[in-house]
Order: sequence, then structure tokens, then C-alpha cells
Amino acid sequence: MTLQFLETLGVNKFNESGTYSCIVSGEANTKGLGNSFNGYSPVDGKQTATFTCATVEQFNELTTNATEAFKEWREVPAPKRGELVRIIGNLAREYKEELAQVITLESGKIMPEALGEVQEWIDVCDFAVGLSRQLHGLTIASERPGHRMMEQWLPLGPVAVISAFNFPMAVWAWNTMLGLVCGNAIVWKPSEKTPLCALAAQCIVNKALEKFSDAPKNICSVVIGDAEIGKTMSADKRYPLVSATGSTAMGRSVGKVVGERLGRSLLELGGNNAMIVSQYADLELALRAIVFAAVGTAGQRCTSLRRLIVHSSVKDSLVERLKQAYSTLRIGDPRAENILVGPLVDSASFESMQKALKAAKSQGGSIIYGGDRVSENVPEKGFYVNPAIVEIAHDAPIVHHETFAPILYVMTFDDIKEAIDIQNEVPQGLSSAMFTENMREAELFLSPSGSDCGIANINIGTSGAEIGGAFGGEKDTGGGRESGSDAWKSYMRRSTNTINYGGDLPLAQGIVFE
Ligand code: NAD
Repeated sequence: MTLQFLETLGVNKFNESGTYSCIVSGEANTKGLGNSFNGYSPVDGKQTATFTCATVEQFNELTTNATEAFKEWREVPAPKRGELVRIIGNLAREYKEELAQVITLESGKIMPEALGEVQEWIDVCDFAVGLSRQLHGLTIASERPGHRMMEQWLPLGPVAVISAFNFPMAVWAWNTMLGLVCGNAIVWKPSEKTPLCALAAQCIVNKALEKFSDAPKNICSVVIGDAEIGKTMSADKRYPLVSATGSTAMGRSVGKVVGERLGRSLLELGGNNAMIVSQYADLELALRAIVFAAVGTAGQRCTSLRRLIVHSSVKDSLVERLKQAYSTLRIGDPRAENILVGPLVDSASFESMQKALKAAKSQGGSIIYGGDRVSENVPEKGFYVNPAIVEIAHDAPIVHHETFAPILYVMTFDDIKEAIDIQNEVPQGLSSAMFTENMREAELFLSPSGSDCGIANINIGTSGAEIGGAFGGEKDTGGGRESGSDAWKSYMRRSTNTINYGGDLPLAQGIVFE
């Protein structure tokens, strides 16, 4: 498949041997014979390219090179490291359109959302550049005379990044831009569904490295491969940090393997996000937020709205308006203008949606809207669906499970504390929202007795977080935090230093040892 945007970005040069393979700092590495697999576009089901998984030998070589690159990079002053990230951000601005086209090709995201994803990458570059002059620690009062105590944040080592298909560039950018200013080398294993996105991002990094001579060339690399390479990465002691984004099942496996060797893991896993709509809510505002959060990215965001907990007095009118709004959704080719809902990523995703709907029915739920495959005015082999609305009891087992597709479960409550209990009763803890104009309800939701999620919003939907805040969730969502606030601390090691400038050797806690 020859696509102009891949040519413009320079992705095609990785395909000279007819298969995209494990790469090291921009040069295709086709040594060895890993398993090959085909990539397909969710847009029309057509094959995009053939890829070859990295072999363990290739992976070892790449890790050795990244370790050497780290040793050089950690010596470069942090504000100087920020300069590389500034160049990367400017190139992402320059190639924004082409990068978004690759995202749409491989993830099926509509173009405005794909452009938004590249914007997220650009934003996190700006954030990281500022941060490169602010990686400061504390000075702490020492209890001993003639002593000074302080803490430093120092580079950590090569960081392994494992990412999911649905944010095929932004998640890498969150990790990489912070990781780079913190002085680390990055090795990225993208989802096997979106390897072209990773190669496109690597092209941008390579262009930046051409303009910036102070960085070692192996500072960022991509390793194409499946879960097996992800497991090899997780087990490799040369990575002090493994940052993994994906399903809870994947996170359990990575967490266990990294924990076994006492490494650090940063886990960003599945969500089961809820919105509480109170009788005091601005329903018009809530309606708009529900539609974007539930059907945006065809329900394939970790923060997609999956459970709507509505006060019984407003449920009927809200559901009626919701059905009306769903009936006007423009579903179709995500590359076309004005489309709001693109395809599911593949047939397996469609099957899991159908299975969940069947389970919901058998558990007492009723499908009051959608759920079926759309076949008119859409590319033939893509899996396009009418987003579903299902009325069901809050404790039906399927409601507690994340199905990565546009299914919105609707349930009711009468008392606000009951609504918060329902919101918190699932295993996942990523994003949550409450719509209310009542100050007491809003404050309760954000209080220690309120939402137990990493993200809790008032009068805003569950999805579409800004990069400035720390992003992540609790419980089965894994506990990791990425992107803004002080998330950078996960990418550094803290060193506490005590300096004795006096002529004596007083011991802490007043201990006399003579
Ligand atoms: P997935 O778990 O199937 O795959 C994610 C990545 O993990 C891929 O690169 C895959 O190759 C790798 N992998 C799978 N098993 C592994 C193992 N045992 N060891 C190491 N690596 C392994 O997820 P997906 O289908 O690509 O993405 C959807 C899931 O990701 C959803 O559950 C969604 O909620 C979650 N997600 C979470 C966030 C977040 O920030 N919390 C963001 C995006 C997606």
C-alpha cells in the first residue's frame, strides 16, 4: 500500500526489504527471522503492510545500545535535553496532518480526534520543555549541626514503554517526552495493531536528532513485536521502569513479571467509567457530555463513558433525549468530513461487543438503542456499529466488566450516597463524573467519601483529559500516573544527600557511639 503521508513522513524507508521490522535508531534491522504478521486498517479492513517481530537477539542488541545511549544522555544538562524535545514538538506541529492520517489509518479514529491526539503530543512537548528547568528537589533541615540535607532527582535508566492501540502516539509521547528531559533512553513496543504509528513517530524523532547533535542516536528506538516481546522487556533487569498501557489482564502480567525482579512498573489499564446525573443537573450540558464520552472514538477510549447513573426522577426524559441524539450520529469512514463515529478496531472487537450485549440481555438488561452492525454508506469490510444503550441493574456482572466498544449501561438511583456507592462498586477506578448544580453533592463527590477514581470531574464528561494533570487510575486500572503534575518523578530516581561541612561527626537521633 503506497500512501502519500507515509512517504512524506519517511516511514516507507523502513520497508525496503518488503517487511517493516524491529528498528534501531532509525535504521531498519532485518537481521534474524522473527515471526511476521500483517497489519490491517479498521477503516476498510484492507492490509496495510507486513511486519516482522523482533527476535530476542535483536531485542538484546537494542537494549544494549539503549543502555549505552542512556549513559551519555544522563550527562547532558536537563535544559539542554529539553531542546531536543522542543525540536520534536516543532516537527510534530509541522507534520501534524500526516501523523493524524497514520493514526486514522491504523486505529480508525476520526480525523478531528486523530489531530487532537497529535496536539496532545505537541502539548506534552511544551510541558516537558518547561519541566526541563524544574526538575528540582527539596532542601531539608538537618537535625545535626554543620550538616546540610537535600534531595536530587537523577536520571533513571532505559525506560521500556508498552502501549495500546487506541492512543497509538499520545501514550508514547507522554512517556517519552518526560522520559527524555529526565535523562532516560526510551525503547517502545507499540501495539501490534498500530506499528506504522510508532514508525511515523520514530521518523519525527530521527528528523529531530539530525538537528540536534548532542544526543546519542540510540536515545529512542522502536521494537516491533507482540506480547512475547512485551514479556521479554518486562523481565529484563536493564529496564528499571516499565511503563505499560493496555488491558487489566496485560497489566497483571507485566506487574507480576516486573515485581518479581523488584523493578518499577507504571501501569495504565482498563477503566469502567461512570457519570452520575443528579436531579439538580443541567440536563442539556449533561446530554452533550454523555454523547461525546460514550460514542467518541467509537467507545474505544480508556476513559469512555460506560455507566450512566441517573436520578430516577430525570431518567425517562434524559434517556429519550439521548436516544434522539444517538439517532442523528453520523457513522462512517473516519477520513470523511463531518463523521462522528468511526469503526471498531477489528472483528474481535465487534464479537466482544455482541457477546456483551447478549450477556446483558441474559442478565435482565434491555437494549433500548443500537448495538447492530452498520452496513450502509460505510467501507465494506470495516466493523461499524450503532452505539448501544442498555437499561440494566447496576450489579449485573456484565456492567462490572470493561467491554471496549460503545455500550452505555443506564441505571437509576434515588439517594446521592447510593449513586456514589454504585459508581465505586466496580473493580476499575479510572475516570468518573458528576453532573449537578448542587454544591453539596459536588463536594461530596470529590471528598474522601466520594469517587474512588484517579479522575473525578464535575459537569465535565469522563473522557478528554488535559495533559497538565496527572493521568491514571486506581484499583484494576493499575495505580500509575502519567503526563502532567508531578508524574515526571516516576521517571527519575531520588537521591537523598547529607553533607557534613562541620569538623565533628554527630550521629542522628543523638546516638553516642564511642
Ligand atoms: P492490550 O492489553 O491487548 O495490549 C496492550 C499492549 O500490551 C500491546 O502492545 C500488547 O502487545 C502488549 N501486551 C499484551 N500482553 C502482554 C504481556 N503479557 N506482557 C507484555 N506486554 C503485553 O490492550 P489494547 O487492546 O491494545 O488496548 C485496549 C485496552 O487498553 C483497554 O483495556 C483500555 O482501557 C486500555 N487503555 C488504558 C489506558 C490508560 O491510560 N489507563 C489508555 C489506553 C488504553
